[in-house]
Amino acid sequence: MSRLELIDEDIRNIPEYVPGKSIEDTARKYGLDPSSIIKLGSNENALGPSRKAVQAIVDNADKVHLYPSADAGELVDALSMYLDIPASNICATGPGMDGLLDNLMRLIIQEGDEVIVPIPTFSYYEIAARANGASVKYVERKESFRVNTEAIQKAVSSRTKVIFLCSPNNPSGDLVPEPDIRMLLESFPGLVFVDEAYVEFAEHSVTNLVMEYDNLIVGRTFSKIFGLAGLRLGYGIMPSWLKKEYMKTATPFNVSLLALKAGVASISDKAHIEKSIAMVKEGRKYLQERIPFKVYDSMANFVLVDVSPRSASDVCETLLKKGVIVRDCRSFRGAGNSLIRVTVGTREQNVRVVEAFRST
Ligand SMILES: *Cc1c(COP(=O)(O)O)cnc(C)c1O
Repeated sequence: MSRLELIDEDIRNIPEYVPGKSIEDTARKYGLDPSSIIKLGSNENALGPSRKAVQAIVDNADKVHLYPSADAGELVDALSMYLDIPASNICATGPGMDGLLDNLMRLIIQEGDEVIVPIPTFSYYEIAARANGASVKYVERKESFRVNTEAIQKAVSSRTKVIFLCSPNNPSGDLVPEPDIRMLLESFPGLVFVDEAYVEFAEHSVTNLVMEYDNLIVGRTFSKIFGLAGLRLGYGIMPSWLKKEYMKTATPFNVSLLALKAGVASISDKAHIEKSIAMVKEGRKYLQERIPFKVYDSMANFVLVDVSPRSASDVCETLLKKGVIVRDCRSFRGAGNSLIRVTVGTREQNVRVVEAFRST
């Protein structure tokens, strides 16, 4: 017997998470100077973190021998003010929103359970669900990536525990209309998870519906607008009955001391938040108007480009050689071979990415 058989076959069959390419790997592979490379493949904030967050990290560096608070209360209180939602409905989580997804699946998935994932979308829903024993039903989106709510309802069985919705969706950038979300919340006895990782760049959020429905969870992150991807900090807004159970099974101290302090400082830096939003709104318009392929409308800090009849891998390779990292979407289940996701960067970065696309 191979030792590999110690691991359940369903787990062995999970596809690997494919991250965006790093500057270091790209520099090595193409023989480029790392400082000449621009990284627009992982939807990070091109303005970096808030200076207040950096200061909070420095100020607290000599306290890292101490455990942080177990419930991240200081951060939860700051989030409560920021969102105008009671603290009893908010959980701060590490590592990132991914930690929220994993803890949640661990809490609610039982043998034989199913979850529903509209595709193409963020791949970690499927990984977190399958790693915790669920099977996944994939529902294809309609024209222009619109979520197919009728098909989702048809896919629901007595074993369906969670429907995952991503709004704005990664990689397509569109919002799930609120009436569609309400319809699912009202007709489905399980939980609806709405991922709002990019919601600050959009015109609409459904976070407040958590106060209205006892089966809605909204996932949020400090990795995108707040520019703290390296600290791995996220949060969830959920009904208070669920927070109680969630806190019992979450890994203790999963929000590190430095993440907690940087998170609180980031929330207080309204100027940095506004500047980031303004940069993204201007930049995505610029990219949409100038990239010489079909570019979808986006409510997020990235745009989706369809390079057909060319292939995404071809075009990405050409861009990489020029030191421009973008995201080839072939690893997104159901995305096909011609989609590329481009993070909105600074003005200079956007100019460079457009030039690179024009000369492919
Ligand atoms: C980036 C991203 C996340 C994960 O964020 P972390 O907080 O860094 O784990 C979740 N959902 C979507 C759609 C994302 O794009």
